Amino acid sequence: MASRDRYSRKLECAKCGAAGFAEASENDKGKGSNRGFTIDVMPKGFSTERTSPDPAKHMVRCRCGNVFAFKQKTVYAPGSEPRD
Ligand SMILES: [Zn+2]
Repeated sequence: MASRDRYSRKLECAKCGAAGFAEASENDKGKGSNRGFTIDVMPKGFSTERTSPDPAKHMVRCRCGNVFAFKQKTVYAPGSEPRD
């Protein structure tokens, strides 16, 4: 069994400023686009627009209608997500 890497990530809507923490997980040893990425808990005010095994292509919809990728351009190493 491959272990799952779990982490939380802050979602922030650039349009209306809504923010919340999503709980996500992906395969620890995933390669390329086969990472098995899923969002386990979506924060209030956000919903899934389109799922993808790649967090950079997993689209999230804000309640204001703005749609953006779960993973933005800023890249953090696994396990070193900023927590504030
Ligand atoms: Zn919004």
